Amino acid sequence: MTHTGRHFLQIPGPTNTPDRVLRAMAAPTMDHRGPEFAKLGWEILQAIKPVFGTTQPVVIYPSSGTGAWEAALVNTLSPGDKVLCFETGHFATLWQEMAEGLGLEVEFVPGDWRHGVAPQAVADKLSADTERTVKAVLVVHNETSTGVTSRIPEIREAIDSTGHPALLLVDTISSLGSLEYKHDEWGVDVTVAGSQKGLMLPPGLSFNAISEKALAASKTAKLTRSFWSWEPMLEANKRGVFPYTPATNLLYGLREALSMLDEEGLANVYARHQRHAEATRLAVRGWGLEVLCADEREHSGSLTGVLVPEGHDADKIRAIILDRYNMSLGAGLGKLTGRIFRIGHLGDFNDLMLAGTLAGVQMGLVVAGVPIDTTGINAALERLQRS
Ligand SMILES: *Cc1c(COP(=O)(O)O)cnc(C)c1O
Repeated sequence: MTHTGRHFLQIPGPTNTPDRVLRAMAAPTMDHRGPEFAKLGWEILQAIKPVFGTTQPVVIYPSSGTGAWEAALVNTLSPGDKVLCFETGHFATLWQEMAEGLGLEVEFVPGDWRHGVAPQAVADKLSADTERTVKAVLVVHNETSTGVTSRIPEIREAIDSTGHPALLLVDTISSLGSLEYKHDEWGVDVTVAGSQKGLMLPPGLSFNAISEKALAASKTAKLTRSFWSWEPMLEANKRGVFPYTPATNLLYGLREALSMLDEEGLANVYARHQRHAEATRLAVRGWGLEVLCADEREHSGSLTGVLVPEGHDADKIRAIILDRYNMSLGAGLGKLTGRIFRIGHLGDFNDLMLAGTLAGVQMGLVVAGVPIDTTGINAALERLQRS
């Protein structure tokens, strides 16, 4: 079908890039070793910190989020070190595979892809580790494959309750800039993030926020590292520059995106995401369908996973919605392929965009022959009528 108007990019990343950010990125590339760049670099390296809830260093890589995963591991760990991972979904599975591939010894605690990391399981595993062989706990804050958010403060408390010295490494690739996050207050050692989700940029930048404890670990960590090494990065960052060519135009975009988050106010950004998530769940349940997340405390504010009834293929429904209504929805990943679709409601987004998104989903479900209650969207619209 020929499409007119704007495409609805309602996948949970990459998200809709605001026009302001696109225009900022259209400026000519500058000399990344000149004084003008150093000013930009310095400004951004400071302005990014509140989004992480940190006063500690944040490093920026010219890479997708996967690079920052690797950076978090290779800077803090040594070959054969034991790490604890939790099977919250597809992304947690990929990160643990990377850890194995890098020569770490991974304990992967199984999960059902409908719950976050159980704080009690963390406490049990760490208190059983009397030899203190576990060097790091890896947690995906917002599991983008399922729409389940793990409770980081409770996980921190669980670690502290055992007195275990393991580092806490957290992936916030689909939560940073959308969901409340406090690197310092929550005692996270390395926070991993990416540009193309809550930060409203195109793909291509990734981040590590680094605690003092993580920095100390990096002095003795023995995994091979070069491109990802924090040391030359932090040294150059002191002068607002980078040890190799940065993604200059993405940094122009980042400066603009950070201004937008600051203008709205982070508390308002977080409240907006929760409100849109709540409205989305009202629609899904109104249709008579099931939200994948099975714990009311763990619903993601940035995306919603929707189970399709037996006998229906979620990918066919997505294909119909793309063809008819020019809207991209997230696919089920890994073992959820065909079983769910995911509605992204994060980034540069508003009430009418959500109303349009939910209308498109509802019409697509009807066209696909999924038996739903077509008054379902009303509960969402009623929610959006209230502030
Ligand atoms: C998107 C995502 C990744 C992968 O990031 P890339 O930018 O595709 O490398 C990892 N973890 C989570 C939670 C994600 O949402």
